[in-house]
Amino acid sequence: MLYNDSFQHDEAPSETKPSAIAHGKPSTGSHPAPLPPLQDQFGRTFDYVRIAITENCNLRCTYCMPEEGVDFKRGDQILKTDEILRIIHVLARMGVRKVRFTGGEPLVRKDIVKLVEGAAGTPGVKSVHLTTNGILFSRYAERLLAAGLTGVNISLDTLDAEKFQRITRRTGVEKVLDSIRLALDLGFPRVKVNVVLMQGFNDDEFPAFCELTRDMAVTVRFIEFMPFDAHQIWESGEHFASAERMVSRIKELYPGVETTSGTRTEHHIFQAPGYKGKIAVIPAFTRSLCGNCSRIRVTADGKVRNCLYSDDEYELMPLVRSGAPDEAIAGVFRKAFADKAKDGFEAKKRSAAKRISVSDIGRISMTQIGG
Ligand code: SAM
Ligand code: SF4
Repeated sequence: MLYNDSFQHDEAPSETKPSAIAHGKPSTGSHPAPLPPLQDQFGRTFDYVRIAITENCNLRCTYCMPEEGVDFKRGDQILKTDEILRIIHVLARMGVRKVRFTGGEPLVRKDIVKLVEGAAGTPGVKSVHLTTNGILFSRYAERLLAAGLTGVNISLDTLDAEKFQRITRRTGVEKVLDSIRLALDLGFPRVKVNVVLMQGFNDDEFPAFCELTRDMAVTVRFIEFMPFDAHQIWESGEHFASAERMVSRIKELYPGVETTSGTRTEHHIFQAPGYKGKIAVIPAFTRSLCGNCSRIRVTADGKVRNCLYSDDEYELMPLVRSGAPDEAIAGVFRKAFADKAKDGFEAKKRSAAKRISVSDIGRISMTQIGG
């Protein structure tokens, strides 16, 4: 089946019963008393939450999930609109200032504008971002901007229509390119393009992606391929392209290129002289960024994860659904981050040691973890 434009569904009823949130409704504007900030045993503080709002998606990228999808959670199994906003409210009290909605594909949820508006209106939250494959972006772009969306990361791994179809198992490269242009035209404060670079898939397009930054004020971010592909193409390792090699290629393409400033994960970031945009490299697999980690992850089914490479999960849903006070919800985050490993290597080692068999690996795709 090719990409079907009408694919869209409301993942979950948008409201829980009023009694379920009686102890802690999302704030209506006044600043609630701050709670102690979230910290781990290494003194790192966490001010950035990435919330997966669905596991489902309208594409089937080969480096993420199989054609038939994975075992998507649906309906009551995933967080509802007001539950997500309640979690953001508690986190904002704990010092979280940046919120990102991701998935799965966040734009397949019909309440996306409401979520952005609610997050942007939460006292303490300074910026709200979205990571999307861009297919449905034009449908929501103006409303998202009006709702307070500050940044949009659009994923695009090839500029070629035939290759797009091979990588995503759907059509739509022009739609994604139009979404990038639209985001810039509408004046979104931050527009980024996420490219998962893979040997033998799209590494030949590295120069073309870099050249997008000549006339477009975007940050093109090359991301290392990670083993969260539902056991599809990672196994042999032959498609892995290292951050180190990507940085060398940028320096070869643009001798004398300047380093510039970026976010914490944009570990290597450059701007070619006279170019409008920036080029970043994200060492997502080689993990040289762990010391700087400020991320909290919440999965679509309401679990806290303290590291992409850890299997440990901390359950939020029952507390949120039973109307527990903010302090109890905050306690789940505190427990999760008290347990956080020093880095992703340590986290992976610990998780592997806890597994009894290979089938214990719970989440096998980025769409279940929240990319
Ligand atoms: N559907 C949205 C999208 O594609 O932008 C948001 C969710 S997606 C899981 C978030 C990001 O994770 C995307 O930029 C995607 O390219 C990246 N991603 C997915 N699987 C990956 C993998 N195995 N290794 C590295 N990045 C991956
Ligand atoms: Fe969907 Fe994003 Fe995964 Fe691609 S990377 S299949 S767009 S969730």
